[in-house]
Order: sequence, then structure tokens, then C-alpha cells
Amino acid sequence: MSKTNSFSLHFETDWKYADAPESRDHIDLKEQYELFINGQFQKCSSAKYFDSINPANETFLAKIAEANREDIDQAVKSAKSALAQWQKLQAKERAKYIFRIARLIQERAREFSVIETLDGGKPIKESRDIDIPLAAAHFFYYAGWADKLEYAFPGKSVKPIGVVAQIIPWNFPLLMAAWKIAPAIACGNTVVLKPAETTSLTALKLAELIQDAGLPPGVVNIVTGAGETGAELVNHPDIDKIAFTGSTEVGKLIQKSVAGRNVKTTLELGGKAANIIFKDAPIEQAVEGIINGIFFNQGHVCCAGSRLFIEESIEKEVLEKLKWRLETLSVGDPMDKNTDIGAINSKQQLDTIKKYIKIAKEEGLKGFESNQSIPKKGFYCKPTIFTGVSQSSRLAQEEIFGPVLVVQTFRTIDEVIEKANNTPYGLSAGVWTDKGSKAFNLSSRLKAGVVWANTFNKFDPTSPFGGFKESGFGREGGLQGLDAYLKMD
Ligand code: ADP
Repeated sequence: MSKTNSFSLHFETDWKYADAPESRDHIDLKEQYELFINGQFQKCSSAKYFDSINPANETFLAKIAEANREDIDQAVKSAKSALAQWQKLQAKERAKYIFRIARLIQERAREFSVIETLDGGKPIKESRDIDIPLAAAHFFYYAGWADKLEYAFPGKSVKPIGVVAQIIPWNFPLLMAAWKIAPAIACGNTVVLKPAETTSLTALKLAELIQDAGLPPGVVNIVTGAGETGAELVNHPDIDKIAFTGSTEVGKLIQKSVAGRNVKTTLELGGKAANIIFKDAPIEQAVEGIINGIFFNQGHVCCAGSRLFIEESIEKEVLEKLKWRLETLSVGDPMDKNTDIGAINSKQQLDTIKKYIKIAKEEGLKGFESNQSIPKKGFYCKPTIFTGVSQSSRLAQEEIFGPVLVVQTFRTIDEVIEKANNTPYGLSAGVWTDKGSKAFNLSSRLKAGVVWANTFNKFDPTSPFGGFKESGFGREGGLQGLDAYLKMD
């Protein structure tokens, strides 16, 4: 469990908001992207391509290749044949490649940030200050471990697992690629990674960067496509490990498909985090944490603080402050440096969010949304808060993955712990209090992989991340993140 206090994640980059270009004309974006297999870009055997669009205005960005069984087979074969050469290298030589990738991400941070925002809809200030610097930080961190694995696990003999299939979601495209690729190759494995179909572009940019870094061909392969492509990868007989981040529904399918196979698996799935505020909390700071907890990245965050529990005696004060703060959030063009809430990643996800807002209305829940207007074109959702939500409401139980907060109240610690733990998920939680003892008590009794105290949504490569229950199993980040990619005797 990580019990951190606020600390800064702001890494220095070489550009400022004012420089942010407004369109694809200023960045190196191709009309069409192919599959990255064995160190080269190659056409897909299906000859099928799908469009990646900008969710902020529904304009076309690029055509993306759809990999089929034949392509996946080639990618896995390429990863398999690269294993021997990659493992023969001295660990410190492997580390050099990974350091090089980290440095190149930093050098191209501006381009990565712009593409991430155009392709996924997240505010440019988040791509710039969080996603891209953290992606580089993950490569730096695991490059550092590559030649120190025997010190990471003293007394054990460690070996790479082999060919790793990695499937990632659309909410943190480059960052998730870094979370997966960096520890895998630092441990001597080779990789086939599939990004999500709505956000393939930064992974494909990373493929170009990997070419520039001179990484031996086949060590990292990047294949694009949707669920069917992912299923082909998961079911390929020559993979030795699967690392998946995505929905609980697909996580369950993957677990079924590996049953009886010798495939080590880690799953990072959905969440429905409780963010708990006590009357002794620093209220202003807590309100900021609540806003960040749910509205960061439009609420497309598996560990988002989507359930707020307020101690009854401060309910009125907290709700008033939240309402005021909601109105100050600027919703709109993600490329605008002042935007707090950008575009919803896809029409499909917007429909899901709207479905839950409709359910809330049918359940008779009271709510309020920001009065700000939103752009007519593109996929947008005003930040919304529902109050007086009961434990049995679908809004309190199911993951919405959007800018929708549900509010409940409590009187005692036992009551709030019981309510907080009463969902199928167990990924993260937050506690706001002035009392250290209370924070420690809750962090051990909340069934959540990460419990933040007086902060929320803080990520760092040194810190393990992962869930309990239907939020999955296995940890990413820190030493635990290495363990997932090693065999140990
Ligand atoms: P969401 O519902 O939020 O889009 P998903 O779990 O469907 O989340 O998607 C996460 C990732 O899993 C994406 O890269 C997607 O293409 C992939 N995926 C979807 N279905 C399958 C499947 N049956 N097998 C493997 N990967 C899949």
C-alpha cells in the first residue's frame, strides 16, 4: 500500500503551454500507420485499416492497420526469435537501450503530448505535465534495475519469462505502454504490445522512437487493432505471459482463455474508489483532492475517486464548496492550455456515461452539473455530481469511467469502511483527515491496493499499483513490477 503525502510530479520539459501547436500540421503525423514487427513497419495481411479520430472535434487523424491472426503470429514469432539475442546481451547493455528510450521520450515530449491530446481528448496540460514525463520516468526507473535484478531479489535466481503479450487501454496510452514495456524488457523478456483501438498513435510514435534508439529488432513489437486482435494475441500458443489493463469484463475473458495454459498473468481492471473526508480534514485541500480525484482525465481513470463519502456534520459545507469549484472548471478544447476537462475519449464511452446519468435520473437521484456550455461538435460531458446516493444504487456500484461523482454520507468509521468495501472492486481509496492514526487505521482496513492519505491520483514509478477482488491481481511499478516479469528459484 502506498500512503503518500502530496509531492510534485512536475518534470521539466523544454516547452511551455504557449507553444502548443493547434493542429496536426505542426506535428509529424502520417496519414496511415502500419504494424511494427521485427523492427520494421509492415502492412497488415488483412489489408484492413480503421480510422483514429480526434474526439474533441471528430476530425480524422490517421488510418491504423488492423492486425489479424497471421500478423499476430508473425509478431509473436519475431518476439520469440529475438529472445536469445536480447538475453545474451549483458544486462548493463540492455539498460543502455532503455535509458536511450527514456531520453528520447523526454526530447520528443512536446510531440508526444500533442499527439496524446489530439488522439485521446485529454487536456494538454495533463499530457504535458503528467502522462509523458511519467512515461519517460518509468523507462528511466526500470533501466536502472536492468543490471541489478540480483539485488532486487537477494538469494533468488531470477530469469526472464519469455514472450510477453501486453494489452493496454485508451485512458493513458503512452503511459500504459511505458508501464508495460519498461519492466518487461528490463528483465530480459521480449514484447508484443497492442494499444487500444481509439488511441494507437502514441504507441506507434513510440515504435518509431524505438527504431531510432536502435533496439534490436523483435524485442518490442507493436500491433494495432481492436478486441479481436487482442483475443488473437491472448490465445497465441507461444506467449509466456500476459499483462492486461482494461475492463473487468475483458479481464475475465482473458482469465478463462489462459485456464490450463502455462501463461503467467497480471490483470489491472476496473475500480470504484471511495474518497473519504472526515470533519477534521483540511477542507479546502480535500475539496481540491476530490475534484482532482474524479475529474482528472475526464474521470477515465480506473483508480478515480468516484464515490465520495462525507462525514455527516460537514456535508453542507463540503457540497457548497464542491458546487462552487465545479463551476470554475473549464470544459472544452483539450488543446487549450486552460482546459481542465477535455473530450470524452469516444462516442461509445460518452454513450456509456450518458446511460448512467439517465439511470441516476430514473432512480430519482438529486444532482448538479456545471452550468458551463460545451462545444457542439466532439464528445463532451459536463462534470456532474449526484448526492444522497444509496449503497444499492447502480451508480454507487458500477464503474462509470467518466466525470460523474456520487456522494454518500457516514457517521462512524466502521460504517464508512463497510460501505467503502462494499463493491466488487478493490483498486484504490483516499482518506482526508488531520489525524495520522485515523489514516493508518483506514489504510489497513480498506480493501484497496492503493490508499492515498490527504492526496489522490499520485503516481510514481517506484510505487506498486494494482488491485484486489474484481480489480485484478498482480502489481505494476516498483520492485513488485519486476516480479511480474521474472521466474524465480
Ligand atoms: P474499454 O471497455 O474501457 O474499452 P476494454 O477492456 O474493452 O476496455 O479494452 C481494453 C483493451 O483490451 C483494448 O486494447 C481492447 O482492444 C482490448 N480488448 C478488448 N476485447 C478484448 C479481448 N476479448 N481479448 C483481448 N483484448 C481485448
